[in-house]
Amino acid sequence: MKTLLLDTKGDEYINICSDIIKKSGIVALPTETVYGLCANALDESAVRKIFKAKGRPQDNPLIVHVSDIKDVEKYAKNVPDSAYLLFEKFWPGPLTVILKKRNIISNLITANHDTVALRIPNNIIIQNIIKKSGVPLAAPSANISGRPSPTEFSHVVEDMNGKIDAIVDGGKCVIGVESTVISLIDEPIILRPGFITIEEFKKYLPTVKLYERVSNEINDKEKILSPGMKYRHYAPKSPLICVIGEYNKAASYINSKLETNTFCIIFDNESQLYKTKNIITYGVKEDPNTLLKNLYSALRKADSYNAEKIYIHCPEMVNKFSALYNRLILASSHNVIHLEN
Ligand code: AMP
Ligand code: MG
Repeated sequence: MKTLLLDTKGDEYINICSDIIKKSGIVALPTETVYGLCANALDESAVRKIFKAKGRPQDNPLIVHVSDIKDVEKYAKNVPDSAYLLFEKFWPGPLTVILKKRNIISNLITANHDTVALRIPNNIIIQNIIKKSGVPLAAPSANISGRPSPTEFSHVVEDMNGKIDAIVDGGKCVIGVESTVISLIDEPIILRPGFITIEEFKKYLPTVKLYERVSNEINDKEKILSPGMKYRHYAPKSPLICVIGEYNKAASYINSKLETNTFCIIFDNESQLYKTKNIITYGVKEDPNTLLKNLYSALRKADSYNAEKIYIHCPEMVNKFSALYNRLILASSHNVIHLEN
């Protein structure tokens, strides 16, 4: 299939993409979190194409993207007041809310759950296309399943060129990590940490909790609340090892492990401590938002250099880093070294 590569200089991309969506096609669009692979959420044949292009397991449900709070009750029922509190505060933005679904949402999207995940993204490009096509968009991240999520146009081209109808170039995603997923079905619970931290939610939902599985290994047999968690995710092609520890300790540990094509993803100000030129930096240790924004690019960059092994120096895993820690343990298959201070 020929994939159209579109820019956003004029308005042409809006007509082209909404026509594709109306004709059951799929397009990759930027959001403020990561690029999404989008199809008409009310059209099963289109949604099937998303699963196929990504190689996504059928039991991992998709988020439905809308452009107006008024649309929520078209797709969800029994919407609690707490949901409206969150919408007012965080939408449009990097927040996905799980609610009871209405029948119009197919079981294909929800992987046979009776709940639906909804979000209004804060990006004018995808909002324009939701509005123009007049339908909600099912949109998982626009990567091949298991790979780091795409935060730049080139990442999407790498994974999806030739497999989908079009890719729109919206530059680098401003947040660069997936939305926080919060379930309001029973007591509020964060199923996937993201840019918005638990402390922020607690101002509005004092009882909100972080699902304990977010940072623990999943046992194959247990019933889990967020199906996406059990799969390998965000992973570079070669083994990733996370190292937590003070600057000098981390550097000497990693230096002792270097082989020919080992790459080190480290903080901005520490490259002088490393005995290799195979260095990629991803931000300063204290700044979770920059580290999150650059993480997937860094992992993909290591892949592009054909790294055989990748060490990443990580901050201490306190609350403000829970989204980063969650992505890192999944990307590394829980390969985390804690060095004593
Ligand atoms: P992605 O599409 O890659 O951004 O992943 C979407 C995430 O939302 C996955 O972790 C899914 O498991 C989760 N999700 C989507 N719909 C539901 C739902 N109805 N119930 C629980 N988790 C959901
Ligand atoms: Mg994804």
